[in-house]
Amino acid sequence: MADYADPRRVREEGEERSMSRASDLRTLDAETDVVVIGSGIGGLTCAALLAKNGLAVTVCESHVTPGGAAHGFERDGFHFESGPSFFTGLSAENSANPMSMVLAQLDERVESVAYDRWHFHFPEGLFVTGSNEERFHRELARFVSPEAMKEWLRFEEVMKQPLAPDQTHQPFSSVVDEMLSDSFLRRLCDFDAFSLSGMDAGGTPLAEMNFMFKERFQSTVDYPIGGSQAIVDALVRGLEKNGGVLLLGAHVDEVIVEEGRAAGVKLRRGGSLRTRRAVVSNATVWDTQDLFPPGALPAAWCEASAQAPQCESILHLHLGIDASGLPEDLPIHHVVLNSWDVTAPQNMCNISIPSTLDPSLAPKGHHVVHAYTAGNEPYEVWQGLHHKSDAYIALKNERAEVLWRAMEKIIPDVRERARLALIGTPLTHERFLRRKRGTYGAAYRADLGQAFPGPATPLDGFYCCGDSNMPGVGVPAVAVSGMMTAGAAGA
Ligand SMILES: Cc1cc2nc3c(=O)[nH]c(=O)nc-3n(C[C@H](O)[C@H](O)[C@H](O)COP(=O)(O)OP(=O)(O)OC[C@H]3O[C@@H](n4cnc5c(N)ncnc54)[C@H](O)[C@@H]3O)c2cc1C
Repeated sequence: MADYADPRRVREEGEERSMSRASDLRTLDAETDVVVIGSGIGGLTCAALLAKNGLAVTVCESHVTPGGAAHGFERDGFHFESGPSFFTGLSAENSANPMSMVLAQLDERVESVAYDRWHFHFPEGLFVTGSNEERFHRELARFVSPEAMKEWLRFEEVMKQPLAPDQTHQPFSSVVDEMLSDSFLRRLCDFDAFSLSGMDAGGTPLAEMNFMFKERFQSTVDYPIGGSQAIVDALVRGLEKNGGVLLLGAHVDEVIVEEGRAAGVKLRRGGSLRTRRAVVSNATVWDTQDLFPPGALPAAWCEASAQAPQCESILHLHLGIDASGLPEDLPIHHVVLNSWDVTAPQNMCNISIPSTLDPSLAPKGHHVVHAYTAGNEPYEVWQGLHHKSDAYIALKNERAEVLWRAMEKIIPDVRERARLALIGTPLTHERFLRRKRGTYGAAYRADLGQAFPGPATPLDGFYCCGDSNMPGVGVPAVAVSGMMTAGAAGA
């Protein structure tokens, strides 16, 4: 089994791609209004909105491809996704999803397919769910008593109401604890919260769940044709058509600080870009502080960033499989929950088979599969292993077994069907996505009153955006973060 990529190939590709962009760099003013470090969805959102508002913007991306956690990659005719595959509101008119709002503002569209069914494999059995509310209620009624069902319907109504201003910082568990006594329903809420934020109902902000309760039943759930990369590409189009520049293979080593303000960035490949207005970091809070020389930022801010609570990492199994004889109506999404100890490592396995909705993602007669455990794969287990060592390969095979077994619940003979299998680990995540300890994202707990830092920093002209700056790891949250940071940096 191969790792994601031969690092030599990536380096060579990086050189080629950055060479092909070197002419862009030469034609750039050595000075620009804003530099955005990183082309994750948050960084691209911020950059594209600033460019649309008339500022000169350059995005410096370390990787050879844009998108960060949402980038796609090709292997043997299969198009794989490194991260998100669950989206809402892409095809709905007037969606409340901030990502759709950003795309509308940039006058960009992403063709997508709406669907309404996905499967949960709970310890008690199969739970067929989706965006059809009646079907969800019918299914839930098979798992709980009529009294519990009444409890749920009241709870659901409350969850769909607009939040009062004093509720925005409350945890989801505040409503769960007040309204739900049935143990299955309470566990279901932890499961739902963990799937979205990487934390249980106590850690997850009520505002995030309030958005999702409305969005999945009242808007659309849809898959972008071309995968998450299609959203990334739309944001890059939105950036470039407004005069912004994306530099790939352009790792930022240092933020230049002069006279108490951020004045530009130094690139690892040589050269620097100076800024008239702002530098924005889309790297995580833990990676951002490594971009400064010692003493450039107040010690208290660095300390707070270093101590920011962190979700664990992710284990991925990417498969290209023979699809012959599989049901035509195989759903795209499946979650296999091994026990109700929801947040335990190796417990919740998420599975996405996007070629069921977009056949162009796999060679004819095949499917592309992304199975992963998100937010709970311990980094310590992997720390210090060399990615070519026998010990690393053995550990990959051992720990990916849970994902193979989860896949067997969906497609019993999946091992025989596999034409390609790639295992990604916290080390892969750290290396290719430039995220410290390969983290899934920040874990500021709503029930402990831990607040996300937002865009501003103590350094003049320096801002942050991305999924460690906004509540709720995920595309809607980073789109909001990108919007807020564009507002702050462009003001
Ligand atoms: C497996 C998985 C599944 C997911 N599923 C979903 C889902 O179904 N739905 C959903 O909404 N969300 C999902 N998410 C979450 C969502 O994908 C992320 O929260 C979001 O994409 C993160 O965007 P970001 O802007 O914070 O930055 P990131 O994606 O982390 O991008 C940051 C970028 O900065 C670059 N960078 C870092 N340091 C430097 C430097 N020094 N110089 C230059 N560049 C640098 C990195 O290379 C990277 O490209 C999933 C995430 C994962 C990992």
